[in-house]
Amino acid sequence: MKIVDHQLQGTGVHFKQTPNYYNPPFKTPTKLPDAIIIHYTAMTNAADAIKVLTTKKPEGGNASAHLVIGKQGEITQLAKFNQRTWHAGDSSYNGRKGYNSLSIGIEIDNVGWLIKQNNGKFSRARLTDEYTEDQVVNLPHFNPKVRHEYWETYPQKQIDAVFEICELLRKQYGIIEILGHDEISPNRKQDPGPAFPMDELKSEVLSDRSGEAVEGIVNADLLNIRAGAGVNFEKVAQPLSQNAEVEILEESNGWYKVSTKVEGWVSKKHITPTR
Ligand SMILES: [Zn+2]
Repeated sequence: MKIVDHQLQGTGVHFKQTPNYYNPPFKTPTKLPDAIIIHYTAMTNAADAIKVLTTKKPEGGNASAHLVIGKQGEITQLAKFNQRTWHAGDSSYNGRKGYNSLSIGIEIDNVGWLIKQNNGKFSRARLTDEYTEDQVVNLPHFNPKVRHEYWETYPQKQIDAVFEICELLRKQYGIIEILGHDEISPNRKQDPGPAFPMDELKSEVLSDRSGEAVEGIVNADLLNIRAGAGVNFEKVAQPLSQNAEVEILEESNGWYKVSTKVEGWVSKKHITPTR
């Protein structure tokens, strides 16, 4: 997957322009989004959610988001990332306000909270679908005002897709903040709720990798170390020898930037990460 002209490209990615957006710029120093807000659709399938988010009702009350992520990790983009969509509403966090003007909105196909029925299945008012025990987790929300106990689970494929997209967006836009809708609008929103691994997403995508050392050892006899990520870059030092310990600083196109006594780029396949 890659981003070209503020649009995701890759297998399983579709684009369907929503009429519900504002033109740039965002209210950030770069005039582009620097945050990501995670939502669930609160609906029973992605197709219905996409329909709602791409419909402009004349009476108002319209919503949209940049992406809808289906249960198999399939992706529908509804607006380019340099267009402001209407997913956050009244919102603030850490002194910043109005997240429609700061962020990319990701809607995950997930029904949200559910109530245990007398027949042992899970549903809620105005919902015809029922969910079985294996589709639901029993977890408290971090916000004590949210009393719901049961939440639809997120399939791993769907979670993986969200992680991959967030990583890509961080690299492209320098994303500094990933938050749940329940963090920026705590008095009216519960999504994405406790079934979604928000803490893991934040630490995986936003953690400063140069701060916490990831180490590896050289698994080739001799390993050239270069000024950039590719064989056409000049060698910056004598080759590294087998079992030399390196610190992995960053990754690009199958190469690691590593640090030993010298710093440079090596082919990724010749480094075995040790932690
Ligand atoms: Zn939301």
